[in-house]
Amino acid sequence: MIRFEHVTKRYADRAGGGTDGADGPPAVDDLTFDVAEGELVTLVGPSGCGKTTTMKMVNRLVEPTSGRILLGGEDVAAVDPVRLRRTIGYVIQQVGLFPHRTVLDNTATVPALLGWKKARARERAAELLDLVGLDPGRYGHRYPEQLSGGQRQRVGVARALAADPPVLLMDEPFGAVDPVVRERLQTEFLHLQATVRKTVLLVTHDLAEAVRLGDRIAVYGQGRIEQFDTPATVLAAPANPYVADFVGADRALRRLAVTPLTEADLDPVAGPAPVGDPAPAPGPVPAPVPAPAFLPQQKGSGPLRENPAPGAPRLPLGVSLKDALAALLQDDAGLIAVHAPGDPARVLGTLTTTGVHRALRRRTAGESGTEPVGPR
Ligand code: ADP
Ligand code: MG
Repeated sequence: MIRFEHVTKRYADRAGGGTDGADGPPAVDDLTFDVAEGELVTLVGPSGCGKTTTMKMVNRLVEPTSGRILLGGEDVAAVDPVRLRRTIGYVIQQVGLFPHRTVLDNTATVPALLGWKKARARERAAELLDLVGLDPGRYGHRYPEQLSGGQRQRVGVARALAADPPVLLMDEPFGAVDPVVRERLQTEFLHLQATVRKTVLLVTHDLAEAVRLGDRIAVYGQGRIEQFDTPATVLAAPANPYVADFVGADRALRRLAVTPLTEADLDPVAGPAPVGDPAPAPGPVPAPVPAPAFLPQQKGSGPLRENPAPGAPRLPLGVSLKDALAALLQDDAGLIAVHAPGDPARVLGTLTTTGVHRALRRRTAGESGTEPVGPR
């Protein structure tokens, strides 16, 4: 869907040059990569490594010095930039909402530019606000300053999606909010993406965010991509010392997010599986995981001790260890029931923090866990 072919960008070397020739060092150096339709690729790396430059060349806010970029097979250089930008959603950290326009009108910006009838544009905007978790009746008529930072970011996402563009560019979209809100926005965005399946390029300097959101990650060094692979592979098998260093020491912790819970991590239930209300809907639990003291003392003692209480959290097999740990930390007994995917009544075993530790140890030793957590 998006293809970079030997793309290099040199900016003009500041004041001295005088020519419009691009004679600076390459901000981006001979990039070649593909993003598949419906794929979410995160670009991650330190400040100044060329992430934003890469992204802005897709919607022609920046023109490459050499090489070309294809969008659905078409060279973007041949497309009128204004028309191009109306077909590509763009979300930036500073959000850039119009302060004197209501949330509803902000969200309807692109449909309005595309000439939709006003009523239809507003109806679409209301739909999108709803989709990003903002009640249009309650927030639609507010002005941006009457929203929290997190709500403004949601409006930014709704606005970018309003004209249903196939491609979404997101530059540090969750960077301006505090960590708790950021984690919630990430979770919401993953759910949203599971529904809308856009082709997404998302820039972040935060490895944890890149790992959490990306189907694949491009790890940038200076102007170059040092590794382009699934999160699990980048974390488990860094391509070179630079990536290994970037991925860093708490790699094991980050691997929690990309390592699925398997049957081998469970303790058997001691007796008949508990019945009762299948407590909170199964699925990822969006609770922040405290770093690095992530393995608290277990309150129950050892495996095979007890059954989870009927109201205890339940999770399906296959969720990430990170989500499993988050659920564990919320439960007083320190024990959760793990059931077959799609069948909450069939409890396969229980999970304790010891089980998480075991799983992590085993996978850090390199036995498995190189497959990404599915279905996201
Ligand atoms: P990132 O988004 O990874 O922080 P950028 O793509 O913004 O990096 O910048 C890459 C490099 O290009 C940096 O060295 C930056 O100073 C330079 N650069 C970015 N924009 C311009 C510009 N408009 N003019 C000159 N140099 C620029
Ligand atoms: Mg940037």
